[in-house]
Amino acid sequence: MWPRRGMGLVLAGFLRACWRSWSMMLWFGALSMGLSSGIKASRTKKVDAFTGRLLDIHSKMLEMNKREDIRLGLHRSDYMLDAETNLLFQIELNTISSSFAGLSCLVSELHRNLINHYGKDLELDSRRVPGNTVVSRYAEALAKAWNEYNNSSAVVMLVVQTEERNMYDQHWLCVVLREMHGVASIRKSLAEIDAEGQVLPDGTLIVGGQTVAVVYFRAGYSPNDYPSESEWRARLLMEQSNAIKCPSISYHLVGTKKIQQELAKPNVLERFLENENDIAKLRKCFAGLWSLDNIDVVKSAIERPELYVLKPQREGGGNNIYGDRVREILIRLQQEGSEELATYILMQRIFPTASCAYLVREGICHQDHAISELGIYGAYLRNKDKVIMNDQCGYLMRTKVSSSNEGGVAAGFAVLDGIYLT
Ligand code: ADP
Ligand code: MG
Repeated sequence: MWPRRGMGLVLAGFLRACWRSWSMMLWFGALSMGLSSGIKASRTKKVDAFTGRLLDIHSKMLEMNKREDIRLGLHRSDYMLDAETNLLFQIELNTISSSFAGLSCLVSELHRNLINHYGKDLELDSRRVPGNTVVSRYAEALAKAWNEYNNSSAVVMLVVQTEERNMYDQHWLCVVLREMHGVASIRKSLAEIDAEGQVLPDGTLIVGGQTVAVVYFRAGYSPNDYPSESEWRARLLMEQSNAIKCPSISYHLVGTKKIQQELAKPNVLERFLENENDIAKLRKCFAGLWSLDNIDVVKSAIERPELYVLKPQREGGGNNIYGDRVREILIRLQQEGSEELATYILMQRIFPTASCAYLVREGICHQDHAISELGIYGAYLRNKDKVIMNDQCGYLMRTKVSSSNEGGVAAGFAVLDGIYLT
C-alpha cells in the first residue's frame, strides 16, 4: 500500500505545499466575503440549478444582512506533482466536508507500525514516515470554535448523509474531540434537522432539544444530499442561525470550481493579497484553468481533449469528464449555443509520474503502476478581526492506478496511502 519509488519527489513537494496552504488561508477570510458577492450574477447560476439554490441562500443572507462573526474553515488543498515541470499543481481546494482526517492518521500509523515490524526485510526505516497530526488539529479547531461560542452545554453537530459510507472517519474525529477536549457531538441528516430543528428568536439553533454551537457539514455538497425541499429548508434554517457553520454558505461557494477558475484569471489574486511574493507563490501552483467563454481554449480542447479535464460544479468525485467525451460535449454545447457551457470549467490535465505500488482492497493486494495526490489539511478560525487559528494540520495521500482518470477514495477510485521520505 505504500509506493516505494517516487516518494522523495512527493515529499519535496509536501513541504512546499505547506506554505502554499498557509498563504491560501491568509486570504481566505477576505475571499469568502468579497468573491461570493461577485458570483451572484454569474451565468452559472442560471444554468446550474444546484449551485443556483446555494446562491439563493447566500443572497437571502445578504438581504437580511446576516453577520457571521465567527468563521471556521476546515480545508484540504489537493495537489498532484506534474511530471514535466516537477511542480505541485493544485487540483482543488475543498472548503466543505474535507474528509479523511481520521483515517489518514490511522494509515500513517499503520505504515509506521508495519515498517517497525518488517522494516529490516524491506530495508525501510519507520522514522521516515512523517507524523500526521490532522485528526488532533481538526479536533482542536472544532473545540476552539465551540469555545468561542461560549455555551458549555452546547454540542457540535455533524451534518451527515442518510446512508453514510464514511462514518468511521467522522467517528474518529468525534472521539478525539470528546476525549481531548470534552466536547460532545451529535450526528443528524438534513431531513432530521428539518424535522427536529428550530431557531430561537435570539438566533440559537436547537436540534433535537440540544443547542448547537458548531454545525460541521459532512453532507450538503451534492445535489443527491437534497432529495426534497425538506433538506433545503434545513440548510436555510442552519444558515439563519447564530451557530458557527463549518462552512458558512459563502465559504462553501468559495470552494466551487468556478471560483477556482476565476481566481486564476490575471489580476484577481491581486484583489485579495498585497504581497507580490505571496501572489507569485500561489500562482505558481495554479494549473491552467479556463472558462468556456475562451473560444481558443475550447477549440484546443476539441482538437486535443487528452490534455484537458472538463469539470462541472460538483464535489465528491466521479463527476469530471475526460478524453473523447470532452470533445463530444464541447462540440454539442457549441452547436446548440447552449448556456450550459457556463456550468463547466476546463482545466489543464496534470500528468504525475507513475510509480510501482501495492494497493490493498478488501484484503487483496494488487501491484500496479500508480499515481498519487497529496492533500494538505488546513484550519482557519476567526472571531471578528481576531484570527484564532490559521495553520496547516497534516496530510492525506491518496493513490490510484495510473489508468484511472478519476480520484476519490469514497467514490471508489483511490486508496488511502502514506508518505515515506527518501
Ligand atoms: P471533486 O470535487 O469531485 O473531488 P476534483 O477536482 O478533486 O473533483 O477531481 C476529482 C479527481 O479527478 C481528482 O482527485 C484527481 O484524481 C482527478 N483530477 C482532477 N483534476 C485533474 C487534472 N487537472 N489533471 C489530472 N487529474 C485530475
Ligand atoms: Mg477532489
